[in-house]
Amino acid sequence: MSANSLTPMLRQYHELKSAHPGALLFFRLGDFYELFYDDAITGARELDITLTARHKETAHPVPMCGVPHHAASTHIARLVRKGYRVAICEQTESPTAGKKLVRREVVRIITPGTAIDSQLLDSGEAAYLAAISCQGDKFGVAFLDVTTGEFHATETQGTDAMRKAFEYIDSYAPRELLHPTSLAPLLREHYKSHHDNSSSHTDSPVIARISSVSDAERPNPKIPLTGLDDWLWESGRCDELLCKQFGVRSLEAFNLNDKPAAVSAAGICLHYAREMQRLDSKHISGINYFERQGFLVLDTVTVRNLELLESQSDAARSRSLLKIIDHTKTAMGARLLRSWLMRPSVNRGEINARLDAVEELHASTMICDALRRHLNDIQDIERLIGRVNLNTATPRDFSFLSRALAQIPHIKKLLSQSHASLLQVLVENLDELSAVKLLIEKHFNTERDLPTDNEIKAGISAELDELRNLSGNVKAAISEMEARERSRTGLNNLKIRSNGVFGYYIEVPRAQAARVPESYQRRQTLANAERYTTPELQSLEQRTLGADERIAEIEADLLTALRQQVSLHSQTLQATARALAVLDVLAGLAAAARQHRYVKPILHESDEIEIRNGRHALIEAFSSTPFIPNDLYMNNSTDRLLIITGPNMGGKSTILRQIGLIAVLAQIGSFVPAEYAKLPVFDRVWTRVGASDDISRGRSTFMVEMTEMAAIMHGATPRSLVLLDEIGRGTATFDGLSIAWAVAEYLHNSPENAAKTLFATHYHELTELAEQLPGAQNYHIKVAERDDEIFFLYKFERGSASKSYGVEVARIAGLPQVVIGRAREVLATLEKYELKILKEAGQQDSQDDFSHDTSNAERTTKALTRRATGKRLASQVTLFAATNDKLFDEIRETKASSLSREQLQAFIESIQSRIV
Ligand code: ATP
Repeated sequence: MSANSLTPMLRQYHELKSAHPGALLFFRLGDFYELFYDDAITGARELDITLTARHKETAHPVPMCGVPHHAASTHIARLVRKGYRVAICEQTESPTAGKKLVRREVVRIITPGTAIDSQLLDSGEAAYLAAISCQGDKFGVAFLDVTTGEFHATETQGTDAMRKAFEYIDSYAPRELLHPTSLAPLLREHYKSHHDNSSSHTDSPVIARISSVSDAERPNPKIPLTGLDDWLWESGRCDELLCKQFGVRSLEAFNLNDKPAAVSAAGICLHYAREMQRLDSKHISGINYFERQGFLVLDTVTVRNLELLESQSDAARSRSLLKIIDHTKTAMGARLLRSWLMRPSVNRGEINARLDAVEELHASTMICDALRRHLNDIQDIERLIGRVNLNTATPRDFSFLSRALAQIPHIKKLLSQSHASLLQVLVENLDELSAVKLLIEKHFNTERDLPTDNEIKAGISAELDELRNLSGNVKAAISEMEARERSRTGLNNLKIRSNGVFGYYIEVPRAQAARVPESYQRRQTLANAERYTTPELQSLEQRTLGADERIAEIEADLLTALRQQVSLHSQTLQATARALAVLDVLAGLAAAARQHRYVKPILHESDEIEIRNGRHALIEAFSSTPFIPNDLYMNNSTDRLLIITGPNMGGKSTILRQIGLIAVLAQIGSFVPAEYAKLPVFDRVWTRVGASDDISRGRSTFMVEMTEMAAIMHGATPRSLVLLDEIGRGTATFDGLSIAWAVAEYLHNSPENAAKTLFATHYHELTELAEQLPGAQNYHIKVAERDDEIFFLYKFERGSASKSYGVEVARIAGLPQVVIGRAREVLATLEKYELKILKEAGQQDSQDDFSHDTSNAERTTKALTRRATGKRLASQVTLFAATNDKLFDEIRETKASSLSREQLQAFIESIQSRIV
């Protein structure tokens, strides 16, 4: 259909639609938002609403569907949650008689990362919009929470710049990720490799509508991606944009000078947020440039393994560390605690300041409880400030703000005698903002929860008061007329109502239409009702003509003016909100420490870990049986690699995670589950769980495990804590053992990667390693045996486990007796011979060249290759020959480790041929 043959309204639609490609256009038509063409087909499908058509009778019907404007937010939220973006097109002038087409404009675009509607937000979680940029060899990333104005940026450089940039993105878990269109292939590749195991998104339409990447190519990442033209990312342009927003001449004050990639990412976040909201956002008043060294790095695997945010068990998702320690009273506090947990501090001074504050609140139950009671009355000021600045704050929001401000003098008084320096600083930062409070109280009756009709108090605008009077009189006259007409006509269902198109009308059900007086003039016929008017009604309408609209207009203007006045105080409000959030977290941590009997950890400069009677925060909180506490000692010299053996279900994984959790808790500034805990400040906690423990996730197990291990071997430092649980189990036994051996040895021997490592394993052979390496120690989890039964004691002790107990655990699990008997026989034979070969290979290794100048990667590869070929082959033969003593004696007498690879191969082949 040509443009000329379109109706003026559809022409208007096409103009607006072409200006907003990639968004579903919600086109306001009276009391409805309508979608047309493909948008209508998508909308009807996704929202499960009826698809109809306009101009049905013509050769070119236009598909259409619609939602009532008062219910639109729910529908919009559904679409945005599915990854679409929605352009809201409003009528920007009122329909007047004789005018065919009203003016319409797109007033804002709602996208996953810029949504401010409460239906799309989680009060306990920040809603970050992220951007990734690339300038030369640098990557820049930025995170902006439009709802609060929180803004962060950083830059990465070097060989693993991209990996680090993605680590940040994972850590902030943004709602939407912006990228230059030229980076689309790279993002596609990254998210493909990261999410190709996730089946839940395979049929998601998501982002395809948003970004420049075509549907067919879409890798279905979990984060909606939005591609923006490369020229927009130019750092000079972005620099200017940020300076203007922050009211500064240069970004030096924000440490962003000479950081073009970070500036570009940050500038784009701002640009996009503004474009989508179509508003100035004064609350975005600064940016925090952070460095990698600024916090303890926890990658997604570690966050999952330690169950920091959610449990790994599908049946009990909410059982997480966050759940246990989150005793916050405000949404601001909950969000802050979550961000501390995702990015614990590495600054000892900062951690100790938090710990001192928690200690003081912990010591005074009275003050802590009173503080928490006051916090209970404080709403989400951070997001309220956002709404004030984005011109969406409601009278209700203002009432809440005023009530929150009313709590501040009490909190200041309560904490006025505090000793902890952090508490003193926070009290200093709390501003009572009396001017804002008075302003709000002047406008609203803040005592009422839901200010309704007379939202704005009388006395502010004379015109408003007068119009309300008039409108009130007319309303009274109309309701009097309604009562009168009902009794005169005997029609009890008669109603007098009004709408924007017809004004006032008398409505009567159709079934009773025959009984209306003759003086009624019919105006409209509906499916079930008839609408009429009378001269009296018309004259009443004449009197109020425009009064209600004018009232709404004045109220809206006053509200906008109030928002503007309050927004002038944004920075003070933000500082106050931030101080309240920190107080909330600290008081919550004190309450959690009291409830769970945690103690204040000591964070010292030296390298030792000393934990007495440590406990696992989650197991002790969620299990009905008592937890058996354990001690742990580590340092960077004699005790930096602990090989932990013990039976299945003995508690190996538990002790590993217990240490990780204690380290994380300490570095957010929380007390810890122990009787005494002394720790260094870690730069990173890594946890890796062997593939076989991860099968439920359906991951391509061994490969994932090895990729994750490679990241540790490159990234661990002597200040890291590495927790390895059953590494190497995802492949054939001897491959796995060889890899586990080489990894443990590497982490021990490589000076630059010598992290404190706890290595839980079923490979008993690894206990040999501890005997060879000076910094390694054997530990085991104790069990007791009586009458062929084993009892788990959950006691962590020095020395290796006397045996593996796998067969015993299988017996407890109910395997048939005959199978258990045979397993014991095979085990005995294997144990007799297998160790000898491994020992020899180990001796060969220890003579090797970790001290020479081969690179880390080379050394690892060498060790891995030797073990994966020599030992594997030799050991496979061991297995085959285990039940053939004659062949085995031959193997035993041949010194496998002294043979070259080729000789070994030939020897093995000869044995193999004889087994067959
Ligand atoms: P597997 O080798 O089979 O993976 P594991 O040795 O790693 O087992 P865990 O998973 O750590 O064993 O522990 C098994 C269960 O034992 C835990 O879920 C917990 O319920 C209990 N448990 C572990 N340690 C303790 C403890 N110290 N006190 C009380 N219960 C414990």
